[in-house]
Amino acid sequence: MALVNVHFLNLQKNYLFTDVAKKVNVFKVLHPKADVISLGIGDVTQPLCPAVVEAMHKAVDEMATKEGFHGYGPEQGYEFLREAILKNDFLPRGIHLDVDEIFINDGAKSDTGNFQEILHWDNFIGVTDPVYPVYIDSNVMIGRCGTFAGDKYSYVAYLPCTAENGFMPEIPENRPMQVIYLCYPNNPTGAVITKQELQKWVNYALKNDALILYDAAYQAYIRHPEIPRSIYEIRGARKCAVEFRSYSKTAGFTGVRCGYTVVPKSLTVSTFAGERISVNELWNRRQSTKFNGASYISQRAAEAIYTPEGQHQTQETIDYYLEGARMMLDSLRRLGYKVYGGENAPYIWMKTPGGSGSWQFFEELLYGAQVVCTPGMGFGPSGEGYVRFTSFSPHEKIEEAMRRMEAWQNH
Ligand SMILES: *Cc1c(COP(=O)(O)O)cnc(C)c1O
Repeated sequence: MALVNVHFLNLQKNYLFTDVAKKVNVFKVLHPKADVISLGIGDVTQPLCPAVVEAMHKAVDEMATKEGFHGYGPEQGYEFLREAILKNDFLPRGIHLDVDEIFINDGAKSDTGNFQEILHWDNFIGVTDPVYPVYIDSNVMIGRCGTFAGDKYSYVAYLPCTAENGFMPEIPENRPMQVIYLCYPNNPTGAVITKQELQKWVNYALKNDALILYDAAYQAYIRHPEIPRSIYEIRGARKCAVEFRSYSKTAGFTGVRCGYTVVPKSLTVSTFAGERISVNELWNRRQSTKFNGASYISQRAAEAIYTPEGQHQTQETIDYYLEGARMMLDSLRRLGYKVYGGENAPYIWMKTPGGSGSWQFFEELLYGAQVVCTPGMGFGPSGEGYVRFTSFSPHEKIEEAMRRMEAWQNH
């Protein structure tokens, strides 16, 4: 009898986007002529930039020749990309990393989900709430989160991020967390963290011998010069933090698949006996066994992002998304809504008016203005009473959506 990993049965069915799609479909059946605008998707829409496309074509052509063919590459990624990362993403900010501290992957989702498996099963984890669902679910799969009761797992510290605390979670004093997930700029709230705030987390981790798993998937959207793009801009972070980066939102790689994880060599975790173990070595061992590297073509594509043309072109696309976010912020504010984020992130987090529930507002907006948002509840209990808008849609669609919301409100 093959027995199931019962922890998987402890997962909550994450129906958020399926439920959204179902409700939109019902609406479309009832109103076949309606033109629904989605501001709910968490995927980019603009094509790959020319520099990237050219590099990919070139890589494919190489693969078509005997001399240029590439089979298995290093599990940790090709040096050309890891060097480009050091030189472009970290050195200009005064961060000196070693090539061996960079692990190329097929996107940040894999590593944010997998990283927990090198840690003991009963570490107590902390997550900001609302949150990217991967952090909790991947921990549930290994049996780390206790049981689900009401709207939460029993053995997880949920750190509420709401308008009341400016979306900056308090550090809980009652029970020490051993592993902390932080994501800035944040999905879904669009909040960013200052150096001072992030220093508090690093200090906490150093004092409590905790590990911070820092998701910087949206760092390319930061426009404010004082906002840290990397946790390694913070004193002491190399001793307590891993950082995840992705080219998905940076350069439209959601369908190409490439990202990387930084695991400093000075980072260690403990055995019960107090022996210190190198996280870099553990992760390297894990990747060498379970991962065979990102494709050569994806890595050449990623390398091209760092060329002057690549930098310029990707920044243009990000500016386009940020301009869309600004248009939404302006319109929604003018309509009297309370909106957050959207300045250094592609997400706008909006308080639902009149205290309506996030699903209720979602339906009202769909039926009233044929505009789709994402109910905040789907990202965690503190998301109730909020909805998320994304700025990945074309500007014409955003403008039209805003006009409709205005007409709906004046109705
Ligand atoms: C989109 C996203 C990622 C990146 O996922 P990829 O696997 O690199 O496409 C990681 N973290 C968060 C919070 C995200 O929203």
